Amino acid sequence: MASAHILGFPRIGAQRELKFAQEAFWRGELSEAALRDVGADLRARHWKLQKQAGLDAVSVGDFAWYDQVLNTLALLGGLPTRFGFDAKNLTLSEYFTLARGNTQHFAMEMTKWFDTNYHYLVPEWTADSSFDRGVDWLFDELAEAQAQGHRAKLTLIGPVTLLYLGKIKGGLAHKLDLLPKLLPAYQRVLARLQAAGVEWVQIDEPVLALDLDATWKSAFTPAYAVLSPQAPKLLLATYFESVANHADLLHSLPVAGLHVDLIRAPLQAQSLLANWPAGRVLSAGVIDGRNIWRADLSEVLKRLQPLKQELGELLWLAPSCSLLHVPVDLSSETSLDEEVKSWLAFATQKLDEIVALKCALNGQAAQVLPHFTASQIAIHSRNVSSRIHNPLVKKRVEELAESDAQRRNIFGERIVKQQARFKLPLFPTTTIGSFPQTKAIRQARAAHKRGDLGHLEYLDAMREEIRLVVEKQEQLDIDVLVHGEPERNDMVEYFGEQLWGYGFTLNGWVQSYGSRCVKPPFIYGDVYRPEAMTVGWSEFAQSLTSRPMKGMLTGPVTMLQWSFVRDDQPRETTALQIALALRDEVCDLEKAGIGMIQIDEPAFREGLPLKSGDWPHYLDWAVRAFKVSACGVADETQIHTHMCYSEFNDILPWIAAMDADVITIETSRSDMELLDGFGEFAYPNEIGPGVYDIHSPRVPRMLEMQRLLQKAREVIPDRRLWVNPDCGLKTRDWPETIAALENMVQAAKLLRASL
Ligand code: GLN
Ligand code: ZN
Repeated sequence: MASAHILGFPRIGAQRELKFAQEAFWRGELSEAALRDVGADLRARHWKLQKQAGLDAVSVGDFAWYDQVLNTLALLGGLPTRFGFDAKNLTLSEYFTLARGNTQHFAMEMTKWFDTNYHYLVPEWTADSSFDRGVDWLFDELAEAQAQGHRAKLTLIGPVTLLYLGKIKGGLAHKLDLLPKLLPAYQRVLARLQAAGVEWVQIDEPVLALDLDATWKSAFTPAYAVLSPQAPKLLLATYFESVANHADLLHSLPVAGLHVDLIRAPLQAQSLLANWPAGRVLSAGVIDGRNIWRADLSEVLKRLQPLKQELGELLWLAPSCSLLHVPVDLSSETSLDEEVKSWLAFATQKLDEIVALKCALNGQAAQVLPHFTASQIAIHSRNVSSRIHNPLVKKRVEELAESDAQRRNIFGERIVKQQARFKLPLFPTTTIGSFPQTKAIRQARAAHKRGDLGHLEYLDAMREEIRLVVEKQEQLDIDVLVHGEPERNDMVEYFGEQLWGYGFTLNGWVQSYGSRCVKPPFIYGDVYRPEAMTVGWSEFAQSLTSRPMKGMLTGPVTMLQWSFVRDDQPRETTALQIALALRDEVCDLEKAGIGMIQIDEPAFREGLPLKSGDWPHYLDWAVRAFKVSACGVADETQIHTHMCYSEFNDILPWIAAMDADVITIETSRSDMELLDGFGEFAYPNEIGPGVYDIHSPRVPRMLEMQRLLQKAREVIPDRRLWVNPDCGLKTRDWPETIAALENMVQAAKLLRASL
């Protein structure tokens, strides 16, 4: 008999109960005991769902008050020492201080969990990191599950991954130097779990999916030799990529099972099964834990049958990774179109899918026939639905020519025409697009959405805002203006709502970090732009000024990257469809007299695959998509792009290949150092390295910005250098925005005068 399990369930709750409880606790409106009750209720509810669905064990250890990496540190005792907390007696307040900081301590750093949009807290490794004592929360949760009559499978982040994900903060030559201290802590935990009657512990080592160097790779054998003897059976869990390149290592480890992601890397099952160790469990991750589509159950079953034949009861079924990355429950979606809804499965629905597959494999197909039928109907409808398939769009993508992704002439020729047209001074000043999103703006947008504010009143309110933003920019004497984006709630949602093929949920929240959740749109169909999306706003804004007004769009890669995407066609095809829709918008802006158009790609780098061998393919299609969106215009039209991070050196040739006339990037926090790579031969086009950090309310002084500009001038010739902040200003308040921009414009002017 095959078994069914999951690697983890979302902890936030279908109505984001954990978020609201955490935030109330932080505000001092909820007691610690009441917060703990909310957590216990959520765990109980989620375990019950898993049991009722028919999983063979429930997942314990996937709950965290803020983050699973921080919970692991609290369990093992490896908290950052600078806080001075005693891990054994850590209170929830102290736990949250680690995550969020307070007046005495800055918070732990946060970074993306592999290629997901979940952010974990980064462990801080020092020579005196110790793992002596930790909290008992995990054991309490286990006792809870057992008291509720569940068979529990525990989940833990593995020691190699934990060390890898941390940062050295001093006194250590290599992170692995901590392994000898760390392993006894794991031994202690595993022995205690064994004593508590736990049969299986899932130990996550997702770093196995990365390009691992020999040192990291060689840590596994000694680590698991130490861990396995006094422990429950270990299920080594990998996900997000193939681990087939580590087959020999994996086979040799003393673990009782291996979980692999057969959604991202379906072919690895075959190569891993050659020389499969006798008696070892294979947990096949066959339901997509990273996306929201209902599975084609018959198809998956067909792929599972040979595995079942080979492995018998050693075959387990699971989602590809933890369900943390998908929304909780589709049944809370009351306003989705019924047909579209039938194509989706959120975490709760995915439990049923896993169990349906298990029953079918175990000869109980009749019992789960309705699941298979519903799946087949949904798949059929997705194959033929005119909501998805738009022949016009498909034809256009097929007919794309090489020349569609090229400007008509090279940058050197374009820039001459653009300079003649715009007559900008040296060091032209501009901003990245958004201006403060005041409460009044947000209220007007919300009222309009609810239907409480009529179209005309809404239009008036937004135009008033644009008028104000243009006036302020003229007063500040900024050279290239923006309209301020008051009409946009979110840079992806705003466009998604106007494009065919994009869907939105009411409650499809996914944890991003701590109490922060995002509600990504989903792309279900061929992307088509029925009419212009921004032209009216930009045209109006341009009518208010004789200075150039930048049109403002979100680029194809970002539109893709910040959405759930189709699984029935390659990402690159979807990217090209979006690119074509944007291309039409770009051309319409040009026709309306907008001479500069910015296509933002803040998520360009995020799309990089986990394995560097896959980078060139991604970069090639991502650059092509950007260029398809940008290259429909005449030489005199200036294309800008914006990226708000500061790691470029490893992908600079592709950034250059995007061939935007102007790129604005974040640099102030890295003190312009990243510009070193941007010499004239590596990057010939114009550049606006951000001269101040918009993430803080602090008003930068003129001298600081001047110093940064001088640094930039060491690398970038004067005629190619723009002056702008690091990113959009929507999270800032007006007074600090005005003060900062005044100083910025002054810095540019003094520099001009000094030449
Ligand atoms: N134009 C957008 C803004 O200014 C860019 C946002 C971003 O880079 N994330 O808000
Ligand atoms: Zn930005």
